[in-house]
Order: sequence, then structure tokens, then C-alpha cells
Amino acid sequence: MIRPAELIERKRDGGILTAPELNELMLAYARDEVPDYQLAALCMAIFFRGLTSTETHALCEAMIATGDTVDLHSALGRRVVDKHSTGGVGDKTSIAVGPIVAACGVPFAKMSGRGLGHTGGTLDKLEAIPGFRVELTTEEFVEQVKAAGMAIIGASADLVPADKKLYALRDVTATVDNYSLIAASIMSKKIAGGADAIVIDAKVGDGAFMKSIEDARALAEAMLDLGGRAQRQVVCLLTDMDQPLGRAVGNALEIREAIATVKGEGPADFLELVLAACSRLLAVSDLGVDEEEGRIRAMQAIADGSAFDAYERWIRAQGGDPSEDALATAPVVRELPSRREGYISTLGAVAVGQAALHLGAGRRTKDDEIDHAVGIMCLRKRGDRVAAGEPLAEIHAPGEEAADAVARKLADAYTIADEPPAERPVVLDVLA
Ligand code: URA
Repeated sequence: MIRPAELIERKRDGGILTAPELNELMLAYARDEVPDYQLAALCMAIFFRGLTSTETHALCEAMIATGDTVDLHSALGRRVVDKHSTGGVGDKTSIAVGPIVAACGVPFAKMSGRGLGHTGGTLDKLEAIPGFRVELTTEEFVEQVKAAGMAIIGASADLVPADKKLYALRDVTATVDNYSLIAASIMSKKIAGGADAIVIDAKVGDGAFMKSIEDARALAEAMLDLGGRAQRQVVCLLTDMDQPLGRAVGNALEIREAIATVKGEGPADFLELVLAACSRLLAVSDLGVDEEEGRIRAMQAIADGSAFDAYERWIRAQGGDPSEDALATAPVVRELPSRREGYISTLGAVAVGQAALHLGAGRRTKDDEIDHAVGIMCLRKRGDRVAAGEPLAEIHAPGEEAADAVARKLADAYTIADEPPAERPVVLDVLA
């Protein structure tokens, strides 16, 4: 029988934890036989001492073993692809990528999460669509991927239960941003979720867990290692999260932007990331195409309307109303004028995320209710030129008072300079 205090002490002093120890610990933790305070202490020791790649792999396997696994490959009889983002502001990528990939004939099966703090969650965004059901049984999930080509659902409580507890604990004990813990957490869910190939969008910058490209590379390498050990093909895109992705931040606003993008009318940075993800997903699928051909097919699906058809088919299959008119709108829409002329040199992702949170678009605690209608439209982004008095952004608020309070916060999110900033592409690097 393991003694958690012994493992904490060993890791605190820079020692190594073995696979059987981590297995026993995770099983006991998932069964509530080890208290949160001991896991919190262990995560803090890991935060300072790190995990070797062997330990990270053992932790990932130990977390998977605490719950169910899904074998999508056998259920669908073919190679299944998945996509995951480490989370950011305005990140509605999966909602546009899924239908495009499905329209190209590749099954897309994804389990997503909810948002907390300044980042949004895909499930919350999808729930802005009236009638949309995020809770399907595994059988319904598989049947829908067969019939409609795709599904995005909430992960069942039985999938990696140890991670559910541990992630919530890390969130309140300042132990999220350690790359081994993040890699084991993300990859345990991806491996248990059953896709053969996974494209991971690892965010880098102000609004991301990984603030520097070096840290994001270390995280990507850890995830590639875990994928390889589990015989899954993994591609990691390192992408910019120094400013919000696209223009829309807030649930219904982001659904509208995802629809526009699937129709070929989305903002350039968001479209670029969507095409980068789609081309890699098609290249790791069983279509037998390379990335260049994948990009061409994704663009064709947007241009010929088949991606939008796939979007409508998917939303209806999950009980939702796919028309844009069904989405909620905020009672107050207020423009934020620029105080001066010049070039936008920074647009802080966290500050915009916090402004949207203040309006009610996100939750501060996991039991908060979300207002799907509210949020921010960033009309001007980094590098854009603006004249004094021209609108920088639109605030979609529940009332005048909330709009006033957020206008002040949002103005501080923008820095305007005389010279344009250096260009920074949305896709910073790709590791495979
Ligand atoms: N997303 C996860 O699922 N886990 C982490 O640890 C961080 C981001």
C-alpha cells in the first residue's frame, strides 16, 4: 500500500516516482481514498521538480486507468481524427473545423470541456445554440458520427475521472502551468477518447498557459511523446494567443463567427488557423492526402457550401437549431471609440477575456450561469490602423451599466502606437 506522504517527500527532494506508485495513487485518488491536500502538495512538488518523460507517461497511463476508454476505431471501422486546443480567448476553432473536415469525408469525433475564468469552453459556446445537446451516450455519439459525420460532446464523468478531480484541484492551487502535468492531463483524455490521430493547437502568449514559445515547444514535445507511446499520431500547432482569435469573444457571437468562417466569410487570422488545422487533420486521416491537398480540399468544402451543409446536419443531429436568427442577441450594443489615431500595437487577450467575463459570457466559479448573448467584437486588432474616434470594438452587454464598466476595462486592453508592430503570424510553428 503506497503512503502518499512518502511520494510527496520523494518528489519534493527531486526523486523519481514509479509507474506502480502513480497507478495506485491515481486509483486511490479517483476513489476518494487520498485527500485533495496530499495531491495538491504533490502537484506543487512536481511543479518545482518536474517529471521525467517516463514519469509523465506513467502518470498519463495511471489517469487513463481510473476510468473508461472508448474504441472509436473499431466502432466506426475506420481511422478517426480529433482536435484539441489548450484553451484561449475567442477560440471557436473546433466549431468551424469539425464541419469542414466532415464535409471532406473524414469522421470527426470530439469530447470538449467548459470554460473557467477568462477562457471560454467549446461546450458553453455550443449551448448558445437553442436545443443543442452536449450530453450523448457513447452509443449515440458513435451513431451520430456514422450518420452525420461528426459530433462534439461533453466528456462523460467516467472518462479519466482522476483528471477531472486533479484539474479542478490544480486550478485552485496554482499548479496548472507545468508542462508535464498539462501534457498528461490533455493526452489522458485524448487517448481515452479513442481517436487515432490528434491535432493539438497549443496556444502561446498572454492569454495562454504557455507564455513563451520555448515553454509551448516543451509542452508540444511532451504531448508528441505521450501520443507516440500510445500509438497515436499527434501533430502540434503552436499558435498565437497574444490577442484574441478572430473578432468574436462570447458564446453566441463566436457561433456566428464560426458559421461565417464555414461559409468563407470569417476573419483572416481565424480562417488561417482553421485551414491549418483542417489541412493537418486531413493529412493524418485515411484519405491518403498530404497537407497541401488537405488545404485545397478544405478550401473547396468552404467554397462549394458542403462545409455549411455539414454544419447544419451536425447541429440538427444534436437537437439544435442551426439558423443564425435563433441565436440570442444582447440588449445593448455599444461601440468603443479609439482615443487616438495610430496602429494597434497590442490587444491583450486576457484583458478582453476578462471584459467578456465581466459581462457574463464566462464563469468565475464552476457553478456560475452564463449569458450566451453577451461578449466583445474586436473590430480592430493588432497591426490595424485606426483614426481617433473610430470604433475599436463593440460591447454586447446585458445593460447600460455593464457596458460602461466594461468600456473602461476594454480601452486598457488596446495599446495604440505611431508605428505598426512587427508582424506575428497566427501559426508560429508546427511539431510532428
Ligand atoms: N487543458 C487540460 O485539459 N488540462 C490541463 O492541464 C490544461 C489545459
